Amino acid sequence: MASTPDSSHDGAGDAPVEPTESESALETARRQLHHAAGHLDVDPNIVERLKYPKKIHEVTIPIERDDGTVEVFTGYRAQHDSVRGPFKGGLRYHPDVTRDECVGLSMWMTWKCAVMDLPFGGAKGGIAVNPKELSADEKERLTRRFAEELRDVIGPNQDIPAPDMGTDPQTMAWLMDAYSMQEGETTPGVVTGKPPVVGGSEGREEAPGRSVAIVTKLVCEYYDRPLEETTVAVQGYGSVGANAARLLDDWGATVVAVSDVNGAMYDPSGIDTAAVPSHDEEPEAVTKYADTVISNDDLLTLDVDVLVPAALGNVITRENAEDIAAEFVVEGANGPTTSAADSILEERGVAVIPDILANAGGVTVSYFEWLQDINRRAWPLERVNDELEAEMLKAWNAVQTEYERRDVTWRDAAYIVALSRIAEAHEMRGLWP
Ligand code: NAD
Repeated sequence: MASTPDSSHDGAGDAPVEPTESESALETARRQLHHAAGHLDVDPNIVERLKYPKKIHEVTIPIERDDGTVEVFTGYRAQHDSVRGPFKGGLRYHPDVTRDECVGLSMWMTWKCAVMDLPFGGAKGGIAVNPKELSADEKERLTRRFAEELRDVIGPNQDIPAPDMGTDPQTMAWLMDAYSMQEGETTPGVVTGKPPVVGGSEGREEAPGRSVAIVTKLVCEYYDRPLEETTVAVQGYGSVGANAARLLDDWGATVVAVSDVNGAMYDPSGIDTAAVPSHDEEPEAVTKYADTVISNDDLLTLDVDVLVPAALGNVITRENAEDIAAEFVVEGANGPTTSAADSILEERGVAVIPDILANAGGVTVSYFEWLQDINRRAWPLERVNDELEAEMLKAWNAVQTEYERRDVTWRDAAYIVALSRIAEAHEMRGLWP
């Protein structure tokens, strides 16, 4: 059954603070928690517990630089909630990494794992460092020492890191090796996002973009819009954006704009997405191949059916939300829509499919990787993609049920699904001791 996106939601379930454009990840995570709790009959004591992480580990990481001097960095691992299983979440190497940011992002991971019904809780960590200023050897030393400092609190049954900003499959391979050497046994399940040769999964790299494409297909089906008659604009042509754009193109949609940091390629008759190099294939080269170039700001307000922001956070803001002409926004990036913009889009009846559902293909295939590692048996790519499609459909159906039953936004519906599962698990397990 399809109707136009609903605009009658009243925003019940009062937020603790009014959303602002400069909200931190932690403020957003807590506000979303309160918002979802307002729609549910959930024990306030459980909500209170979920406002805080279970543990935050802060470690000092001294490394020898190539010139022989010693430099000391600070690393974090925030572990939010493990009621449904071990902690799971990325490790980022970035100068802006802070304790609070890790806590906020670990909460987002809890919601993301729960909306996908994965047996994991949320974690996030990282090191406050600019990885571009390190040589490969220095980065390896940093990673191995970080692994050693976190060794007691990570593990396949405790907490399973993955790549994030500034880290990659090689980083995960070093981390897995350092952990395995100290534990005395090869333990591939301690991290995901590894190269396949050391236990990584086929299809992991494309998974977030693939889930964005699957969710776009599902949203179009829901609103009775054949993909063949659907136009799409995608901001960002990296791992998420290029994979999503190419799949949607293959499945019959007309991708009219794609972009990178330098600007956007625009062709109203449709772009041959396979012919445009992704960030991985040729970095920041989209505009080099374009006949018509428009700005990233103009891409966001193009008159298309579906807008997929897949580059950065906070790109749909109070300033441009009134000008978004797309009927559906499918969030490929994490947090591309500010809370203020979200309210404007809701009022205008634009359906926003949230990041915790749309780009959750990454953590879902990470879960598959963990299963493969534990069972010591690799899956072929077809199986990974088929199971991903099945998991996305299951999650979509659960979110759709809440969307229809409670007359809320798609974002609220996703958080309601997540919070109900977490709260129910807490209820059943009780508070220890
Ligand atoms: P990427 O580095 O592979 O690609 C990023 C793309 O965005 C590049 O094409 C780059 O040119 C473009 N870009 C950078 N700055 C831009 C700007 N100011 N304006 C427009 N385009 C710009 O990154 P990715 O892995 O595709 O990640 C994109 C987003 O998706 C991030 O928010 C990330 O957190 C999120 N995400 C990634 C994954 C993953 O596993 N890769 C999973 C979930 C969410």
